[in-house]
Amino acid sequence: MDCIFCKIAQKQAPAQIAYEDDEFIAFHDIRPKAPLHLLLVPKKHIPSLQESQEGDAELLGKLLLRAQKVAQEKQVKGYKLAMNVGKEGGQEIDHIHLHLLAQ
Ligand code: 5GP
Ligand code: ZN
Repeated sequence: MDCIFCKIAQKQAPAQIAYEDDEFIAFHDIRPKAPLHLLLVPKKHIPSLQESQEGDAELLGKLLLRAQKVAQEKQVKGYKLAMNVGKEGGQEIDHIHLHLLAQ
């Protein structure tokens, strides 16, 4: 599958990795829109939130909790989370991910 985020998760493409566990990886966005701009990505290939299903509920819940953990590790005081959904929603990479932005 030609998915850059799967390749990054599988270490077949380079990225500045900030966090990793069995199910998630977080790395720095190549075009940062804030002093800290991370992409938090489930390793499971789900193309977008629109393609997620009931069975992904636990993974989606964990995605938010991992954002909390990564923000805590990065010692930011506050942060913004964003998810673009679909081409018309500004989604460029078809692998579900959460943007974590902070000063
Ligand atoms: P989206 O628009 O899909 O929500 O966000 C995709 C983000 O991924 C963009 O902010 C873009 O800068 C970033 N991005 C695209 N390709 C790569 C890449 O190969 N490596 C990294 N680290 N970020 C990427
Ligand atoms: Zn993927």
